[in-house]
Amino acid sequence: MANISYVNGLYCNIQEAKISINDRGYHFGDAVYEVILYSNGIFYDYEEHIKRLFNSLKLINIKFHLSEQQLKIIIKNLFKLNRVNFGSIYIQVSRGVADRNHSYFGLCSKPVLTMIVSKKKNNISDDIKGVKAITMVDNRWSRPDIKTTQLLPNVLAKTFANEKNAYEGIFIDHEGYITEGSSSNIWIINNNNEILTREIDGKILSGITRKTIAKFVKKNNFKLLEKKFTKDELLRSKEVFLTSASSFVTPIIQIDNFKINNGIVGKTSIELRNLYFKNF
Ligand code: PMP
Repeated sequence: MANISYVNGLYCNIQEAKISINDRGYHFGDAVYEVILYSNGIFYDYEEHIKRLFNSLKLINIKFHLSEQQLKIIIKNLFKLNRVNFGSIYIQVSRGVADRNHSYFGLCSKPVLTMIVSKKKNNISDDIKGVKAITMVDNRWSRPDIKTTQLLPNVLAKTFANEKNAYEGIFIDHEGYITEGSSSNIWIINNNNEILTREIDGKILSGITRKTIAKFVKKNNFKLLEKKFTKDELLRSKEVFLTSASSFVTPIIQIDNFKINNGIVGKTSIELRNLYFKNF
């Protein structure tokens, strides 16, 4: 386990790390976050994740005190201290500490930066197993494009999925279209061999892994359509997979009670997963 965390200027053992009980992240989920994959000295899509972090901060008007360069130094130090070869970093910035009050009007709090490194199993082999997913109504707020720590609907969705022995919960909007997973973007390959993932329309998070995989899809002459699709299209797909910094490209072989591709991991999903790991 990685033991050293970073809390507002201090590198400290996780057991000793402290944040204020008046942190607005704790009270209101008034905070944003990123997760970046790390493997043997390489951060996957580092610049894109940091760009999205700064954009999330801007979207909720948090005036962050560190520059991208300062942040990078701390992140690198943290990996050195934890001696992790394959893992990820969780970066959270809250609006800071203040007496509990919904409004932040006129507040001059200093943002609180916390970071945790996690070790991951190095599981990037070819014989990757597919996972199960279940569908559910998308009952989140109307700004899922902001990467905030306020994730209760996602937490409930993932837990519900796990209770049903599934890895991911897939959200469906009120018109019957798939939005995304509780912590991933969803992709299908249809019977015309087109690869579809929902367009960035404000109803999903603009996934960084999604963006990278979209590039590989185009570069490798697959047909990409950034377009929303229905539950029916999802269930009739040749292949389904999800993407995220934590799960990379993970094939989905069963959704609700329907087997995808007879429950066998599809070759295009594997190909894209391998491309993802080979290209960093
Ligand atoms: N959608 C949601 C709701 C997520 O929580 C995540 C992962 N944070 C993603 C998509 C995938 O984003 P990324 O590829 O940047 O990890």
